[in-house]
Amino acid sequence: MKKRIGLITSGGDAPGMNACVRAVVRTAAQNDVEIIGFIRGYEGVLDKDFVVMKNENVAQIIQRGGTILKTARCKRFYEAEHRAKAAENLRELGVDSLIAIGGDGTFTGAVLLQKEHGFKVVGVPGTIDNDLFGTDFTIGYDTAINTVVEAVDKIRDTAFSHDRIFVVEVMGRDAGFIALRSGIAVGAEAILVPETKTDIDRVLKRLEGRRKSKQSAIIIVAEGDEFGGAEDVAKAVMKKYVDREVKVTKLGHIQRGGNPSAMDRVLAGFLGVGAVEAVLEEVSGVMIGMQHKKIVRIPLEKAIKHHQDVDDNLLRITEMLSV
Ligand code: ATP
Repeated sequence: MKKRIGLITSGGDAPGMNACVRAVVRTAAQNDVEIIGFIRGYEGVLDKDFVVMKNENVAQIIQRGGTILKTARCKRFYEAEHRAKAAENLRELGVDSLIAIGGDGTFTGAVLLQKEHGFKVVGVPGTIDNDLFGTDFTIGYDTAINTVVEAVDKIRDTAFSHDRIFVVEVMGRDAGFIALRSGIAVGAEAILVPETKTDIDRVLKRLEGRRKSKQSAIIIVAEGDEFGGAEDVAKAVMKKYVDREVKVTKLGHIQRGGNPSAMDRVLAGFLGVGAVEAVLEEVSGVMIGMQHKKIVRIPLEKAIKHHQDVDDNLLRITEMLSV
C-alpha cells in the first residue's frame, strides 16, 4: 500500500487554502504518496468522511476562494476520547501523518494528537488574521487586505461626496494586522487596533481640522479593539461633532471570501510543498512558515504560544500617515 498522508482545512476559511490543497496533492503525487482529504476538518476525521485526492481533484481550484475540503469548528475534538477515535480512524485508513491547514486552534488540536497518540502532524498557517508566530504572512491575509481596500475605496467615494465620516469595522478579534495594513493602504485618518490602547480623545482631536472644513474621514476599527466596536466609536464621534453625519460599515464575512491574490497563491504553493517535504523527511510537530522569503519549520507549540507582535514600524508608519 502507498504511503498515505491525511489533509484537512480547519477553523476559519481563508482564500488560498485551495491553492495549498492543490500544492500538497501535486507534491505528494510526484512522490508517489496518496493524500486522503478529510471533509470539514476534524469532523471528517471523526466521521471518516474523506476523498482520496488525485491530481484531477485539484484541477481548476488555484483561483477559487474558500476550501473544496470544507472546514468546520469541531467541538468533539476538544475531548480526549474523540481525539483517540480520530487517531484510531486515521490508522485504520493507513494514514500515518496529518497536514493541517488552519490557525492556532487547529494547531492546538494537532499538537494534542501528536502528544497523546504519537501521531505525526505538520501545520500550515491558513488564516486571514496573520496572527501566527513564526511566519511573516499567513495564507489568506493578503487577499483579505485587498478586499478591505477595494471596499473602503468605494466607501471613500461616497464619504467624500457627502462630507461624511465613516467608521469601518474590519475583522480582528485579537489582532489588528488587517486593520493596520489596510488602513495604511486606504489612507485612513485613524486606525484602532486591540494591540494598543485607544485614546479616543486623541482620535477625535485628529478629526478636528476635518470638522471645520467639513471634510470626509475614514476610521478603521478592528472588531476586537478594547474601546469597542464601530458603533461605540461612531457614538463617541457623533457626541463630539453633532453637526456631522457619521456612518458605520461592518465589512464582515466578505473579508473571508474571494479569489486569492497572487501573493496568497504563491505563498500557498511554497507552504504546501514545504509541508509534504517535511512529512517525507519524517519531521513532525512543526508549522511550515515563510520568513524573509525562505521556507522555515517552526515548532507548532512555539507558533501557538508566542504571540505575533505587531511590527513597531507598522505602528510608527500608521501614526505618521493618518492625519
Ligand atoms: P482561525 O484562526 O481562522 O479562527 P483556528 O484554527 O484558530 O482558525 P479554531 O476554531 O480555533 O480555528 O480551531 C479549529 C478547530 O481546531 C476547532 O474547531 C477544534 O476542532 C480544534 N481545536 C481548537 N482548539 C483546540 C483545543 N484546545 N483542543 C483540541 N482541539 C482544538
